[in-house]
Amino acid sequence: MYVDSHTHLDDFPPEELDGVLERARAAGVGAIVLAGTTLASTEACVELARRTTMLLAGVGIHPMDVTAPVDDACAEQLRQLALSTPKVVTVSETGLDFDKGAPDLSLQYQAFRAQIRLALELGLPVIFHSREIPGQPELHMEALKVLRQEQGWRVGGAMHYFQGDERAARECVDLGIYVSMAKPLLRRPDLQAIAAALPLENMVLETDTYPQPFKGSRDKWTEPRDVPLVAEKLAELKGVPVEEVERVTTANFLAMCERAGAPGRVDAVRAAME
Ligand SMILES: [Zn+2]
Repeated sequence: MYVDSHTHLDDFPPEELDGVLERARAAGVGAIVLAGTTLASTEACVELARRTTMLLAGVGIHPMDVTAPVDDACAEQLRQLALSTPKVVTVSETGLDFDKGAPDLSLQYQAFRAQIRLALELGLPVIFHSREIPGQPELHMEALKVLRQEQGWRVGGAMHYFQGDERAARECVDLGIYVSMAKPLLRRPDLQAIAAALPLENMVLETDTYPQPFKGSRDKWTEPRDVPLVAEKLAELKGVPVEEVERVTTANFLAMCERAGAPGRVDAVRAAME
């Protein structure tokens, strides 16, 4: 079974959830990780994970939602939510965003550093966001630089919705960070070249599912059921059976949780897939 290592299913109307999960299950996706973007969203993700077998949660403040420093009070709320159930398996979503209109960068860096420190304290991997300015792929190195400075390699994690260049992919491997592949792999030759060269042992899979009304037809929205599409593309690029991609990327996700150290997380992921 597959793990979808990054989604925002908490943003869906509650009545949609059963259908999304059923379609995921039918496609072979066994566990789905929700990423918190604010304190309120983190609470919602943890609550959903607590009462839904297939779901796991991350605690975090998204770089696009950083409106104030992640101070002791905020970190304490994230900490308590993370400790409230072993179904919290990651600090996510955090990271850096250089897009126009993104929050003040000094605030973003502070929030990212504070959340990496929280991850180290909790023994949870960091599944993080990195968005560059178009044409400046070197900006993906910034999040990796912060992770190196804060010793984020001690817990590891994944660079979610990977859109970096070869240098960023190499630095991920060096830091013990997984490259998280999503649907851009289906259409971007640069990512396909990186994926072809990168060992499967360094990759996890995701969809970054969130409501997409701009796509018009509801059928076209990305959902966790699309994870196998990414896996099939990877299998084709690497010349291996898709079952191998499934087996290795799921093992990678479990290894990521195991290595980070918080007790009970591997069992929680396995239980979600049962
Ligand atoms: Zn996200």
